[in-house]
Amino acid sequence: MSKSSKEKDELYAMRHSLAHIMASAVTELWPSAKLGVGPVVKNGFYYDIDINGIKISESDFKRIEKVMHKIIKQKQVFEHSTMKIEDAVAWAKQSKQPYKLELLNDLQRAGTTNVQDLSPDELGTLADAESKIDEVSFYTNGDFVDLCRGPHVKSTADVGAFKLMKVAGAYWRGDESKPQMQRLYGVGFTTKEQLKDYIQILEEAKLRDHRKLGRELDLFTFSDQVGPGLPLFTPRGTIVRTLLKMMLEQVGKKYNAQTVEIPHIAKIDLYETSGHAQKFGDELFEVSSHYKDVKFVMKPVNCPHHTQIYASKPRSYKDLPISYMESTMQYRDEKPGELSGLGRVRSITIDDGHIFLRKDQIKQELTKLAKWVEEFHSSLGLYGDHWVSLSLRDPAKQDQYTGNEEDWVEAERVLEDFASELALGAQKIEGEAAIYGPKIDYMYKDVSGNERQLSTIQLDFATAERFGLEYTDSDGSSVTPVIIHRAILGSYERFMAILLEKTAGHLPFWLSPEQVRLLTINDKVNDYVEEIKNVLDGVVLMEPLKYNELRYSVDNRQESLGKKIREATKQKIPIMLVVGERDKASKTVSIRTFGGEEQTLPLADLGNHIAGL
Ligand SMILES: [Zn+2]
Ligand SMILES: [Zn+2]
Repeated sequence: MSKSSKEKDELYAMRHSLAHIMASAVTELWPSAKLGVGPVVKNGFYYDIDINGIKISESDFKRIEKVMHKIIKQKQVFEHSTMKIEDAVAWAKQSKQPYKLELLNDLQRAGTTNVQDLSPDELGTLADAESKIDEVSFYTNGDFVDLCRGPHVKSTADVGAFKLMKVAGAYWRGDESKPQMQRLYGVGFTTKEQLKDYIQILEEAKLRDHRKLGRELDLFTFSDQVGPGLPLFTPRGTIVRTLLKMMLEQVGKKYNAQTVEIPHIAKIDLYETSGHAQKFGDELFEVSSHYKDVKFVMKPVNCPHHTQIYASKPRSYKDLPISYMESTMQYRDEKPGELSGLGRVRSITIDDGHIFLRKDQIKQELTKLAKWVEEFHSSLGLYGDHWVSLSLRDPAKQDQYTGNEEDWVEAERVLEDFASELALGAQKIEGEAAIYGPKIDYMYKDVSGNERQLSTIQLDFATAERFGLEYTDSDGSSVTPVIIHRAILGSYERFMAILLEKTAGHLPFWLSPEQVRLLTINDKVNDYVEEIKNVLDGVVLMEPLKYNELRYSVDNRQESLGKKIREATKQKIPIMLVVGERDKASKTVSIRTFGGEEQTLPLADLGNHIAGL
């Protein structure tokens, strides 16, 4: 349901007015508070505040909200006024607002008539504006005066429902050399019900946050000593990664993909040839060698290595397509501020693949890849939750790309035709193409609403030529192959994040790091536990992953059964087998599923029961 633009404008004015009310409440509580900017953001608003080193914490939210409610009750009218800029400068000086003073000085110097919220972004354009302005606009409610162009609601009573959400450090105007302020965030909605719904969605999202689930299920960890953005996978997390890899290779066999393996560093020259050195620039991790004049980097991509496997022997048109695949780590020096759990990391494991093919094979290969993506993602219940982007060149920046014009036009046409023939519902996005060609990306959303790219299929007419790759055609001539770059799962890290959040940690049975846990009632059943283990050791799953041996553990600690069940539930173990003396006497097992359903089976039937799950 899309909101009318009138509703949107009203909500904007409400949130904007809430920013003023929050700032006036903070000023009432801390009279020395200095204010930065206070724009409207998604779902709410914030204000950047500096209270001479006093830190606002979440425990202050209650009293700030209390003052805000008082201001709202007073129905203070938002009065608009204008002031000569010189007078405004004097006002800022007198009211000891150095940040406002800086903004006014900028306005006076560069000037602009379209400052809406004085957000840092807008201030960037402000400096470029040429026209000078004479007057600035103010809004006053009660004793609180703020430099602002509006719009606002009529009075403080008209702001709907709100809640303060968080406080975080923020550099003044986003500049690390400037003072650090505190950014106080709130959300605002027209009605209390909308606010309640929003908070509830947020609470649910928190429970599904992959960082929280990663800890609870003991899948991965980070260490300051290792460094930010470098996840460490625990034994359980490694099981999940290994199973995903096996599944990919199992499906990949049907598509004639062959597994290869490459080292994690290469001479920088390799990426100068491919064009990635220029593209990645600062994101490359350099590795120094003791032998001078050789500069190495950690690989940011895998294609250049793979081209050299292709180039290792002569190729005939009959050999094509040749498809290499590999699950391997690549490294990019991402900005520390952009790192986030497994969503954005510096060591990225890609199920990277490159297909070397003839032009007449493009369509058949693209179609196979789209099927592969569908098959793999469907097996995990993810397919359908995505949208597809068709990334093309930015026509204004053609010099950023490798390859020639003619090939680009053809590659874009081929990929566009393919996307529409397969009815992928692709949305065209200009400027998002790879350096060597157009691509199709499968985009998924994480719980925080961030768009994460998983699968990708990229058509490349340029790289093979840069590396001088060839095959001998039927008439004996040498021809340059086309390359398709593809990842089915994408990044293992991102994929795990999305999968954990989508399933709330309830991984499919075949993928659970621990599928079954035996919980004993007392030590008298230990010999019977050995009998059950014998049965479980014989269970091998054949679907969807073949030869998947059952993973189980035994909890025979001297703890209460209730505690053992609670722990297994928290770790989302799909099957619990409660072993008591009665089970031992009757040679049965009591199965308890994660949902709490219970069922008793003869031990003789246990193997078949589990294999059929
Ligand atoms: Zn305002
Ligand atoms: Zn590639």
